[in-house]
Amino acid sequence: MTSFLSGLTGSFSQSAAENPTVAIMEAGYAARNLDVRYINCEVAPEKLSDAVSGAIAMGWLGFNCSLPHKEAILQYLDELAPSAKLIGAVNTVVITEGRLVGENTDGQGFVEALKKIGDPQGTRTVIFGAGGAARAIAIELALAGAQKITIVNRSLERGEKLAQHVDSQTETDCSFAPWTPGFVIPDDSTLVVNATSLGFYPHHEETLDVDFSTFREGSIVADVVPNPPMTRWLQAAEEAGCIPLTGIGMLVNQALVNARLWTGETLDAAVMHRALNNALGLP
Ligand code: NDP
Repeated sequence: MTSFLSGLTGSFSQSAAENPTVAIMEAGYAARNLDVRYINCEVAPEKLSDAVSGAIAMGWLGFNCSLPHKEAILQYLDELAPSAKLIGAVNTVVITEGRLVGENTDGQGFVEALKKIGDPQGTRTVIFGAGGAARAIAIELALAGAQKITIVNRSLERGEKLAQHVDSQTETDCSFAPWTPGFVIPDDSTLVVNATSLGFYPHHEETLDVDFSTFREGSIVADVVPNPPMTRWLQAAEEAGCIPLTGIGMLVNQALVNARLWTGETLDAAVMHRALNNALGLP
């Protein structure tokens, strides 16, 4: 018999209107003929508790939580996945029989995207930034076997704290380096990541204060910024003979991981990639 009851997933954030994830997820579900919906919800901080109760009451499969709920959501969870525990923030919740498990798929999306062009194991990485994205990427790279991570950040205190956390909680050697003008990328780096918000549209002319002549040919240079996909940072890296990894890959792979956690199904990455490009008005 036909069922008119769809599986429900979605996102709780504020401001939700700028979040293109719904376009990626709905395209991915439709292409696999899954009767699952993704609903983008505007949820104010003081309404998070009601939204969580609502999702449980309506039998949602799970939801994403974006800014400003990534830490506030912790109090409603029954369990935390190991990497979410280390990161201290959750962007994906899986609901099974009313039980809420928190995951952090930001860093997993990054590592999955990276694996398509290189091996995270043994990388000697420089990460610019020490916010939520940098934290998720640093932890996930460490869990994937990175040999060494150097955190470079504008604010000293935040950078030092992240480096100390990764160094003490994982097997990876992690240290902090102050962001001096015209920062020189260490010679032995195999992976360099912009995990700051520098270069995001409409501030796409901005880029990192780094000596681009110190990019090493053949190394992987990544950006978390998905729009525009080829930021000035990535353009400079490509000109220097590096392999660019855009923020689009991280976003699409994160959505793939989320769908797998909620439905057990692997969606079509190419379909989701095209949906994201359409949503962002990219060619
Ligand atoms: P946070 O606000 O937590 O952190 C921002 C980071 O950028 C901090 O390290 C901050 O440094 C640094 N920063 C901001 N402005 C400057 C500047 N002018 N010069 C130097 N450093 C600067 O943000 P998130 O970590 O959550 O997000 C960072 C970016 O990652 C955003 O653009 C976000 O959209 C993107 N993102 C992309 C994802 C994807 O799937 N592609 C997933 C998640 C995030 P300081 O500590 O000194 O303030």
